[in-house]
Parts: sequence; C-alpha cells; structure tokens
Amino acid sequence: MLNPAQLAELSKFSPSPLLVSSLYLNTEPKRFPKNVLLTQFKDLSRDRLHELKAAGLTHDQLKSVESDMERLHDALVGHAFTHAGERGLAAFSCAGRDFFQMHTLPHGFKATLLVGPTPYLRPLQALLAQSPHAVAVLVDQHRARAWSVHGDEIQDMFDLTHETGSRIKKGGFQGKDSSRVEHRHDEAVHHHYQDAADRLLHAFQSAPFEYLVLGGHLDEIRGFERHLHTYVAERVAGRFRIDVRSAQREEVRQKTVELVATEETNRRDDLVRRLAGAARTNGGLAVVGLKNTLAALNDRRIQTLLVSEDFSHAGRHCTSCAVLLEREPKCPRCGGATAEAHDVVDEAVALTVHQGGTLRILPAGGALAEQGKIGAMLRY
Ligand SMILES: [Zn+2]
Repeated sequence: MLNPAQLAELSKFSPSPLLVSSLYLNTEPKRFPKNVLLTQFKDLSRDRLHELKAAGLTHDQLKSVESDMERLHDALVGHAFTHAGERGLAAFSCAGRDFFQMHTLPHGFKATLLVGPTPYLRPLQALLAQSPHAVAVLVDQHRARAWSVHGDEIQDMFDLTHETGSRIKKGGFQGKDSSRVEHRHDEAVHHHYQDAADRLLHAFQSAPFEYLVLGGHLDEIRGFERHLHTYVAERVAGRFRIDVRSAQREEVRQKTVELVATEETNRRDDLVRRLAGAARTNGGLAVVGLKNTLAALNDRRIQTLLVSEDFSHAGRHCTSCAVLLEREPKCPRCGGATAEAHDVVDEAVALTVHQGGTLRILPAGGALAEQGKIGAMLRY
C-alpha cells in the first residue's frame, strides 16, 4: 500500500498528450487465483484497445497504450501474490514515458482497467481515507513498544527497554539515601520517556501518521504524554489499559483500529456538521450539492472536497478550458463546446487533488447524503 505522499505524487502525473493505463484487481487468492486474474485482464485490455482504436487516438497514443497492456500483462505473470495481507492490486503504466508502478493493497477492487490523461486514483484515495495511518505505543517505566498500524497491517516500529530500577528500594535505605535513590529513579524514567518520545517524533517526521494510540497503565501513560512533542501529542486518539510486557500484536492492532474508528467517526460527523452550518451562512466558506461544488471547483476555491463514496453522476466538461459542468452544452467561461463526462464526480475529485485541495471520501449513507452527497470547504 502506498502512503499519502506517494499518492499525491502519483496524482500529479499527467503525460499529455499520451495516456495512462490504470489497473485495479481483487487478488483475494481463494476467489481470484492467478489464471482467473489473467483472464480478467485479457478481457479488459481487449475491450479497452477496441474502444480506443474506434475513438481515433494518434499513432503515438495508441502505441503507448498497447505497450502498457504488454507491461501490465508481464507484471501480472511475474507477480508472486504471496505478500501477507495482500487482497488487491493497483498498477499504472505509461510506456511512452517509461512510467510503471504496481502496488499491493489491503483491500481488493472490482477488476477495472481505465485509460485516461491521468492515473485513476479514486479507489486508492478512498482506501487511504478509510484506513488512516496510526501508531500504537505501549509504555511503562522501563519499556516502550511501538507499532505502525494501517487497517489489517501492523508493523514493528521499536521496542525500547531502559534499566530504571524500582522506586521503592527493598529494605535498608533511609532518609538522604532513599531520596537519592528515588531521584535517580525519576531521572531514569524521565530519560526513558524522553527517548521514546524522541523516536516517535522522528518517525512522525519521516512518515507522518494521523493518530497515536497509547496503551499501558493510565498513570504511566500520563507521565509519558508530558514528554510528547506537540506535533505528536495532537495526534493522540485514545488510551487503553493493557499489560505492556505480555501484550500481543493482534490485541494491540484491534484496540488501535477500534479507537481510531471511533475518533474518525467523530471527526467526520463534526466536519459534515460544520460544512452544512457554513453552507447555510452567508459568507460561510462552504458549499453543498453538485452544482455549487462544481462552480467552486471551477473558481479554484476548494480547500477540502467531501464526497460520499457511492456518489457518481454524469456531467460535462469543457474541451478547451477544463471547466466541469452539470449539463450545459456550451462553456459559460470560454464559450467552447462541452463533452460528456461519464462521471463528473470522478473528474471533480481528480481536479481537486490537482489544485492542491484535500479530499475526504466518506462512507455511503452518512450525514453527507442529506447534503447531496458532495460539498466543499472553501479557501475564500
Ligand atoms: Zn471553457
């Protein structure tokens, strides 16, 4: 699975006038063994090439797409399908620009092969939005264990142990000696917490995570939290009681996913409430519904696009200035002719990402459905 930075990079790829071939497959081994996947791919590629030849592509465009199909086929033949937790696959090719990427995914998508001016990224975006990257840390006065959690995947980050002694020394010590021992112990614990907090900050800087979940005894967690850097501290999504030494990975993963899901739901509901409230207010910097959202997008005003994952809608786009429209046959901006867009919502998503806006694809049936399944927070 690729991370948000890689996805943003991929969304900028636009090899005009050449086209990009985007392939998605569900690779769940029981349902889709390799021979079935190859048959699916052959059928899809035959259909796409047939359509493209009829659509009157240039010689160079067509030659590049034909090579894409060969590269994708060879990559599937050579792929081992043994990666743990692999359920799906996404691949992007533009042979004319010598561009090829293949990613394994924790969820599969219906077999899809599209050829267009940019990579088709909607499924990947939806996937990233639905399983945010979280870090789990279990911490006590001697040990700190950290994992990176992304949906079904959990990976070790670090496991630190510091010899910090015990606060109440057995027998013997009194007065000055005892307080010196306590002081030394507190210093050692402080050093241990600081070391773990520094490692988290370092991890955050090299690969930002959305949420941090803390496990252990609640007083120790509180002590540790005081050492977290602000950037990391503001990601804390929840805390849970667990024995730091005996905790199992799967237990940690489940607890993390559960706490993150609750926090996500809260944030999503809050976001839609703010969106609806702002859209009702004059000068509230928000719009809802397809028509208003497209108008804001055409003015490059979108900061965050919110779209329900089940929403698609036919529309039109201007062939000369890239304006997106619901149904106008003539472009209101440049007067040019408009062409049919099979799914104008998909184009709006791609354009938002191109304009540097952020994207939230929300589960179907949520509060956004009452707002026309699409809306946006605006820059101005
Ligand atoms: Zn136009």
